[in-house]
Amino acid sequence: DRRIKVANPVVEMDGDEMTRIIWAFIKEKLILPNVDVQLKYFDLGLPHRDQTDDQVTIDSALATQKYSVAVKCATITPDEARVEEFKLKKMWKSPNGTIRNILGGTVFREPIVCKNIPRLVPGWTKAIIIGRHAHGDQVSWGGTSRELPLPRRVPLPHFLQRPPQPLCSARHYKTDFDKLKIWYEHRLIDDMVAQVLKSAGGFVWACKNYDGDVQSDIVAQGFGSLGLMASVLVCPDGKTIEAEAAHGTVTRHYREHQKGRPTSTNPIASIFAWTRALEHRGKLDSNPELIKFAQMLETVCVATVESGVMTKDLAGCIHGLSNVKLDEHYVNTAAFLDAIKSNLEKALGKP
Ligand code: NAD
Repeated sequence: DRRIKVANPVVEMDGDEMTRIIWAFIKEKLILPNVDVQLKYFDLGLPHRDQTDDQVTIDSALATQKYSVAVKCATITPDEARVEEFKLKKMWKSPNGTIRNILGGTVFREPIVCKNIPRLVPGWTKAIIIGRHAHGDQVSWGGTSRELPLPRRVPLPHFLQRPPQPLCSARHYKTDFDKLKIWYEHRLIDDMVAQVLKSAGGFVWACKNYDGDVQSDIVAQGFGSLGLMASVLVCPDGKTIEAEAAHGTVTRHYREHQKGRPTSTNPIASIFAWTRALEHRGKLDSNPELIKFAQMLETVCVATVESGVMTKDLAGCIHGLSNVKLDEHYVNTAAFLDAIKSNLEKALGKP
């Protein structure tokens, strides 16, 4: 067994619909053939949440506190239509809300930049990472967000590939920041929005919950697709993280899949959930081989898109959605995942 050995477990939270299908491929074909990691599996798919009266969601968050690293698939937050569709006992709360209420912390959302995917704001050549406080109900911040002097500009080019933990845990951050030639400042929201639009990116924008929710959607659109938005919850202990894709279960594509039609769903943000979790596991365990693998898989994803092989959402950014043709401009979900697998094997030097 030549797989990379991982000393401590990772908590895996499975999910729903299209992302659940993609999830299984990522785990079975990209991760487990290369990484020997013990996964503490929790099925957060809606049927199992209903069966367990949502206890499984709480248990998965408690396991995250115990093992410090979790990777989460997108999940359905039930509404009335879902209660009917799944014949639920109850309209269970958002799993993400339940998990964040137990873990606390800050969600960092980072767009994955591919050179050939045009940005709505052409000047954005580097990632803009949105840091968003996860405490409390997002609605409670709504009315007050404009009056609060919240937004902070934190150029952190050094941290672009990883969650900037020092922001959350370091009380004496300034000395560390000075060493890295980065800084931290407050700006009013209107000034901040203007600065962001004029900037080239390459910084962390810290927001309170509601601002962060809105700004991360704006930034995701600005960078191309929700399928290129990674998300990491960093807990106040600076040690515990939960990584996921910023998007949902892509129900629209799942309905097609249910009819037996192929889809072209972007798996990159879900892959980055795994790589961010494994990279963090590698840091906590001092496992450079694991960190290298995670970074290599990320590089492979970007390189595959930059070589012209991509899903329909990304091809639409280049050519306009109404113009794109299968095979000429984009490939289907399965073909894209196969391309990632084959490029990863090449990068790993596997025959
Ligand atoms: P969604 O993010 O699943 O999809 C919205 C639209 O964005 C899609 O129709 C598609 O056009 C595009 N899109 C998103 N991800 C894509 C991808 N990977 N590849 C290609 N296109 C992509 O949001 P939704 O349709 O509003 O919600 C669907 C379900 O997901 C709901 O049940 C909702 O509760 C759940 N949800 C979960 C999370 C989470 O677990 N973090 C977040 C949001 C929504």
